[in-house]
Amino acid sequence: MSSTKTIGIIGGGQLGQMMAISAIYMGHKVITLDPASDCPSSRVSEVIAAPYDDVDALRQLADRCDVLTYEFENVDADGLDAVIKDGQLPQGTELLRISQNRIFEKDFLSNKAQVTVAPYKVVTSSLDLEDIDLSKNYVLKTATGGYDGHGQKVITSAEDLEEANALANSAECVLEEFVNFDLEISVIVSGNGKDVTVFPVQENIHRNNILSKTIVPARISDRLADRAKAIAVKIAEQLNLSGTLCVEMFATADDIIVNEIAPRPHNSGHYSIEACDFSQFDTHILGVLGAPLPAINLHEPAVMLNVLGQHVEAAERYVTENPSAHLHMYGKLEAKHNRKMGHMTLFSNEPDNVVEFGKGIDF
Ligand code: AMP
Repeated sequence: MSSTKTIGIIGGGQLGQMMAISAIYMGHKVITLDPASDCPSSRVSEVIAAPYDDVDALRQLADRCDVLTYEFENVDADGLDAVIKDGQLPQGTELLRISQNRIFEKDFLSNKAQVTVAPYKVVTSSLDLEDIDLSKNYVLKTATGGYDGHGQKVITSAEDLEEANALANSAECVLEEFVNFDLEISVIVSGNGKDVTVFPVQENIHRNNILSKTIVPARISDRLADRAKAIAVKIAEQLNLSGTLCVEMFATADDIIVNEIAPRPHNSGHYSIEACDFSQFDTHILGVLGAPLPAINLHEPAVMLNVLGQHVEAAERYVTENPSAHLHMYGKLEAKHNRKMGHMTLFSNEPDNVVEFGKGIDF
C-alpha cells in the first residue's frame, strides 16, 4: 500500500492552507472544498468550489480522498455523516457537534472530561435570568453561532439585563460566571487515536476580541503550566483525539479554568511552525493519518503577532528592517479591516518589547 494519501480538507482559509503545506511536505496530495475558488488553499491545492453544505460536493470530496479533515468547526455534521465511509474522518462528527454548541461543550468538559469550567447554567429564555445573583458578574453566550465575542453579553449590573434578556429570548444560551483571570492561555494537543502529544502553553492577548499576540512560553508558574498541559491531555484522551485540538483557558492566581475547545489547529499555535521542531499542522496531518506523533520541543521563546487588514503595510515594513522575523501572508486578495491577512513569528526573550501591529493606532 502506498504511504502517499489524498487528503480532503473542508475549508480553504489560512488554516486549511497551512495544513495542506504540511501534508505536501510529507508527500501527500490535497483537495480542498471551499466556496471560493481563489481561497488561500488554492495556492497549494486543487479546490472544489462549492458551499460547505453542498452534499454532492462533499460526496465528490469523500470519493476522491483517502482521509477527510476540516479547518473549522461549523461544518455540517449531518451532511458529512451522509457521505463519509467508515474511518474516513478520523476526527469524527461527535467532536464537531460538541464544539458547535456551548451547551454540549460545557457538558462534555465538566461531566465527561471532568475539568474545571466557570460555573454556568443553561438559559432557554429571559425567565432563567430572573433570579440571578447580581452581586456576581456574568457572561451570557449564545449556544451556537457565536465567535470572536459576537453573541455575548457581559452582565455586571441590572442595567445590562435588558440586552441580556433580549439575547436570552433570541437563542439558547449559557450563562457563565465572569472569571477574573490573570492571563488567557491555550494549549495545543494532537492525537492519532491512540497517543497524544502536547505543545508548550501559549499566552494570548486579544484586541477587540481578536487574537493579537501570542507569547510562548506563557508567563505562568511551572506548576500552572503543567496543570494546563495535563488538562489538555485529559480532554484529548477523553475524546480519543485524532488531529489537532486547541484548549483555550483562563489562568488565575492559583487555578486553570477551561473556556472552550477548538477541534483544529488554532491561531494561537501558529508560532509552532518556526519555534517548535514540529508544527501544529504537521501533528494534525500525522494525527489524522494515524501516524506516530513526535514529542514537541520549543527551540526558543517566541512571539506571534497577527497581521490584520489594516496592518499589512506595517508588517511588510517591519520585515525589511527585521529580516529575521518570519512573515507569513495567506494570499487573501482583499485586505479588509480586521481580516486576518497573515502573521509574524519572531524569537524574543522580551515579549513586552515586541509591539503589536496597530496597538493604540488602528484599534
Ligand atoms: P469566547 O467566545 O468564549 O472565546 O469568549 C471571547 C472572550 O471573552 C474570551 O477570550 C475572554 O476574553 C472573554 N470571556 C469569555 N468568557 C469569559 C468568562 N467566563 N469570564 C471572563 N471573560 C470571559
